[in-house]
Amino acid sequence: MPSGRDLGSGKRGSTSKKNAFCSFCRKSYRDVGPLVEGPGDVYICGECIELCQSILDQERQRRGSSKQLFSKIPAPREIVAELDEYVIGQDSAKRVLAVAVHSHYKRLMAAEDESDIEIDKSNILLVGPTGCGKTLLARTLAHRLNVPFAIGDATTLTEAGYVGEDVENLLLKLLHAADFDVEAAQRGVLYIDEIDKIGKTSQNVSITRDVSGEGVQQALLKMLEGTTANVPPQGGRKHPEQQYIQLDTTNILFICGGTFDGLQDVIGKRLGHRSIGFGQNGDDQVEMSLGDTLANVTPDDLTQYGMIPELVGRLPVITALRPFEADSLVRVLKEPKNALVKQYQHLFSMEHADLKFTEKALNAIASRAAERQTGARGLRSIIEDVMLDIMFELPDQPRGSQYVITDAIVEGREKMFNDDTPQSKSA
Ligand code: ADP
Repeated sequence: MPSGRDLGSGKRGSTSKKNAFCSFCRKSYRDVGPLVEGPGDVYICGECIELCQSILDQERQRRGSSKQLFSKIPAPREIVAELDEYVIGQDSAKRVLAVAVHSHYKRLMAAEDESDIEIDKSNILLVGPTGCGKTLLARTLAHRLNVPFAIGDATTLTEAGYVGEDVENLLLKLLHAADFDVEAAQRGVLYIDEIDKIGKTSQNVSITRDVSGEGVQQALLKMLEGTTANVPPQGGRKHPEQQYIQLDTTNILFICGGTFDGLQDVIGKRLGHRSIGFGQNGDDQVEMSLGDTLANVTPDDLTQYGMIPELVGRLPVITALRPFEADSLVRVLKEPKNALVKQYQHLFSMEHADLKFTEKALNAIASRAAERQTGARGLRSIIEDVMLDIMFELPDQPRGSQYVITDAIVEGREKMFNDDTPQSKSA
């Protein structure tokens, strides 16, 4: 009996029939080149063979990874340890996330066992200023969990129907991240940024148009809760003829993030009112830092702030991240596994050179970043700026040189290379 690999007795190999065409894509021998011939006038072209191979590879990978996912539930402590390798500080957020994710796993397990008790889903809301690690935390988690991860932006949704995107497009991103493996995507993590911009109840409601994005909000709420969404594989609504992919969002973990500018005033007011009578001076409100204030956030504060209550209700785990001080920015520069300093040192080692930053230089970079008030986000552009000239000259320098970046170089008071005589500065 011929096996699947046997292409027929005596007919194995490429065909030389000029009028033959691929049985899979219908392209002719002339268009696609040599065809492999099977029994009974069946042919396949090189492109289709490659495609089949990648389909089989993906299938094997999927089977492998789904087994891995459920072999063991990582303990919250393990998850925190993993996050510690990449994310500096934010200890309470890490603990909250680790517990939420641990429970999420248990929930998936319970769903697999078909037990009677259904564990409710715990979507997560991260509140904190820009560049403090919200996306980084979500991304690192997804990596740790070995599940597909995608980032979407809620602001692109607000004007859906006019210029914005549909909610389903967020799910499409997750499908992309999962290489269109629906099962994997259904267990993925979707990070939705700028959620504070969507929920805000607005005063200027138009009666004729859905400018406030009410429809979008409803779709988003359903998605967070768990629904079967019809995802257009090409995105958008421009291709009405395309077949939708059905994606069940019940087991997708949604992590929403937002800066919630001004939320500290809402919380402060609440706390201030409470503390009246306790302070030495009744009129004085106790001054609290942004980080300490945000740490007290409650769902009520978020509704006060303007988030629609339904949305707050679907994000039961709320945690606040702290803004960065200059000294923790120095830690961000050098401690994470892929810290910027380590990245540059690696680039230098590829040129057989050695790179060092003095502590003062790191402090100078951190305080420049702190001035920008964009958290750790500003560090990269500052360090790129400092390193530009050196990176330009580096390949022309003698091998084995050592370079030391000082605060004077960071602050532009000194240069590593003189313009006319480029040469390395040895320590
Ligand atoms: P946001 O809070 O605005 O989502 P991100 O997580 O996107 O901020 O952070 C931007 C960049 O800053 C990250 O890619 C990372 O390099 C760095 N970063 C931010 N927070 C941290 C942190 N806590 N530890 C280490 N790096 C961080």
